[in-house]
This record gives sequence, structure tokens and C-alpha cells, in this order.
Amino acid sequence: MNDSMISLVTGANKGIGRQIAGQLAALGHTVVVAARNADAGERAAAEVRAEGGDAVAVVLDVTDPASVAAAADEVKRRFGRLDALVNNAGIVATPGVSFAAQQPGSADVNEIRSVFETNFFGVISVTAAFLPLLRLSAAPRIVNVSSVAGSLAAVSDPATTDPIAAGYAPSKTALTSLTLQYAKGLAPEGILVNAVCPGFVATDLNGFRGTRTPRQGARAAVRMATVPANGPTGTFSDEDGSLPW
Ligand code: NDP
Repeated sequence: MNDSMISLVTGANKGIGRQIAGQLAALGHTVVVAARNADAGERAAAEVRAEGGDAVAVVLDVTDPASVAAAADEVKRRFGRLDALVNNAGIVATPGVSFAAQQPGSADVNEIRSVFETNFFGVISVTAAFLPLLRLSAAPRIVNVSSVAGSLAAVSDPATTDPIAAGYAPSKTALTSLTLQYAKGLAPEGILVNAVCPGFVATDLNGFRGTRTPRQGARAAVRMATVPANGPTGTFSDEDGSLPW
């Protein structure tokens, strides 16, 4: 049995997920770098090891139930349990899809479905697959990387005029709401479930227009992945504290 904390981060091959993986490894966790592309995952895990951390890669496409099940089987075989699950993988749009197909008024329903498949249903699928392993942890935690773009309070502010995308913001609203439901439902089992926003981070997701670094963006998720067993649950926060729902 591995004595260090076992954490899994989805979409950990690049961007914020890669930094969450590195920061958890720096805290002494054994990190499972989950990526849908095997080579990209292996490269990221090798980078984390080169930084002195303990990391292994698994293939995990959050939209592919067989891939999710295989990843859970592999973590069970190698580690026997999971202490922290970070649902980080997300898309703003399907690569190559037109700008118009993402916009309210001209959105393609299949495109919106595809965003929800990754950002919302993917989280449900991954969480279901890993819950049996989280239940074997002494201090299980789930962190959902959501976005203030999905905060109804923030988006309904008249100062916020630009829609982000017809699918993305609602998918994150749904994810934050889902986080609350899971937090309440899993509280009797002592499983802490929190949503975080990384802030506006320069990554592929936004054409590197973000103003924060992935290293900064990772901090809110790392904090919630490492809260003590009597820590918060059902919260939505960024690095600076609570966010409006
Ligand atoms: P990136 O595009 O850099 O990284 C996204 C990651 O998700 C990649 O590893 C990507 O894999 C992975 N991914 C996408 N689809 C799937 C899938 N079906 N299965 C498994 N992995 C998948 O974006 P960020 O690092 O910025 O985004 C990370 C999270 O942070 C997302 O949930 C995003 O919504 C959230 N966020 C980001 C903000 C920002 O300003 N950047 C702001 C608020 C929230 P691959 O390399 O194979 O494409």
C-alpha cells in the first residue's frame, strides 16, 4: 500500500491541469496524470518526475466510458484507492468548430452537447467510476474545476455584456450546481466536494489571452484537493476566497 496521498487530475497533460499535477506532487502526493492522449500524458508525468515528484500517467478520455472504466481499473490495480480526484478537463468548444456555432442565437445544438459531454457529463462519469476508490480513502476529496463564467450572480451583472459561448458558461453553471448536489449527497460518507475557479489563465483554452499563469491558476484546486478531513464542502472559490454562485 502506498503511504503518500494518491491524487488524480484529469486533463493533466497541459495548462492548469499540468500545474495542479506538479503542485500536488511537490506536496508529496503520488499523482496520476490523466490525459486522453497517451504520449502527452507520459510526457507530462515525466516532467513532474523530473521536477522531483512521483507521477504516473493513465489514459482517460472523460467522454469515453470505456476509457474512464479502464483508468479506474488501472488506479485500483496500482494503488488500491484514491484520495483526491480533480475534475479539471474542459473545453470551451470543439476544436475546429466555427465561432458562430458557439454563439447564442446561432449555436449548433450538437456543439453545445459536445461541450456539456466534456465539462458536465464527463465529470459525472469520471466521479462515478472513481467513487469506489475514493470510498477507500481516509480523507476523500473531489475538486471540480468550474468557472466564474458560470456564476449566475457574476454573469447577470449588467456590467458583463459579452457572452462567452452558448455552451461553455451554462456547462460550468451546471457543474457548479452539480458540485453542491454531490457535496450534500456525499457528506454522510465524509467525502468533501468543492468547485473552484482558476481565474483568467493563459492557456490553449482562450488562445493564451489569460492574464494569470497556469501556476497561479492551479492554486485554488490544489488548496481544495488538500483541505483537512474536517475541511469545507459544497463551496465555490478562487484563490482569493468565496465566489458568488
Ligand atoms: P487547456 O486547453 O490548456 O487544457 C484542457 C485540458 O483538458 C487538456 O489537457 C485537454 O486535453 C483536456 N481535455 C479536453 N477534453 C478532454 C476529454 N474529453 N478527456 C480528457 N481530457 C480532455 O485549458 P485550461 O488548462 O485552461 O483548462 C483547465 C480547466 O480550467 C477547464 O475545465 C477550464 O474550463 C477551466 N477554466 C479555465 C480558465 C482559463 O482562463 N484558462 C478559466 C476558468 C476555468 P488535450 O490536450 O488532449 O486537448
